[in-house]
Amino acid sequence: SGCRESKVRVKAHFDYSPETDPYIPCKEAGLAFNRGDVLHIVSQDDAYWWQARKETERSARAGLIPSRALQERRVIHERTQKAQGNDSKSTCTSICYTPPASPMLTSNNSNNTSNTNSTITCRGPKTKKIMYDLAENNDFDREMIATYEEVAKLYPRQGVYRPIVLIGAPGVGRNELKRRLMARDPEKFRNPVPYTTRPIRQGEVAGREYIFVTREKMEADIAAGKFIEHGEYKGHLYGTSGESVKAIVNTGSVCILSPHYQAIKALRTPQLKPYIVHIKPPSFEKLKESRTSARAKSTFDETNSRGFTDEEFEEMIKSAEKIDFLYGHFFDDEILNDDLAHSFEILVSC
Ligand code: 5GP
Repeated sequence: SGCRESKVRVKAHFDYSPETDPYIPCKEAGLAFNRGDVLHIVSQDDAYWWQARKETERSARAGLIPSRALQERRVIHERTQKAQGNDSKSTCTSICYTPPASPMLTSNNSNNTSNTNSTITCRGPKTKKIMYDLAENNDFDREMIATYEEVAKLYPRQGVYRPIVLIGAPGVGRNELKRRLMARDPEKFRNPVPYTTRPIRQGEVAGREYIFVTREKMEADIAAGKFIEHGEYKGHLYGTSGESVKAIVNTGSVCILSPHYQAIKALRTPQLKPYIVHIKPPSFEKLKESRTSARAKSTFDETNSRGFTDEEFEEMIKSAEKIDFLYGHFFDDEILNDDLAHSFEILVSC
């Protein structure tokens, strides 16, 4: 059929090696790539195996890569296995692929044709308790699995910074990191003023700490989808509007946010294109060491002034694992926050 024109350019959000892929019908026909590579998709005719070229190797022959659908299923399967404490990729109980024969494979690799039509069957141990039930977990959304992203969506206008979103377990220190960034360069790093329905307190200035609104107005705006995140605390609504993020972005500053991880869904729009960083806690021992010294107490989050209990450290680590499980594929970067000053330097250099 000759060489077809590239229809779609995508950026890969994962590393791929046909060598180690147990599902590819023919390893020699595969195209290896790394996370971040831009690929030209030559054919999407097959449901499971697309044909692509790397942008940097446009004269090379096209190779097979897993389709978005196949990769999504693989990720769901692997995460489920991981959550079950089973890291072996070869034992699979729930996913079996039937890759249809590809014209490229059958014509070029006659000794492999027997593979292309066969069902890849997998046998494994009985299903153990699933820690995160993907079908029932509200945090989980199939569309949230990052596989390939169309390149046109990725690059915003020139001179405009992507918002930086710091995600992390409560108490890990992302609010302190946010404060430090804004203190370092208040013109460059800015945080949108949140909305609230609570009454203004003495010493507060409307529009500085919060934008104060009525519950009626805020509920209507939430219903209209104007908030990228919102929550209720002690009977009052709080939230950040998408408009206030855009306003900061449009003035050329870096908008910096540290919302609950569930806000990732609302933030991941082609308009906002946030740069999402997971602030991770170190090991239990390191956490204890770094968060209980007198110096650490004064520098880590204000929530920490009373000190953390062992249970709270364990909770923080578990929470970070859950966040990684649910949203790991969206993180543009991860910072291990064992030392605030060091983490801050890493963040500034991002
Ligand atoms: P305060 O009323 O004392 O200023 O804030 C109380 C709590 O409101 C904060 O600790 C925080 O949990 C919550 N809060 C403040 N701003 C926001 C926001 O923009 N969104 C959400 N979801 N909660 C907020």
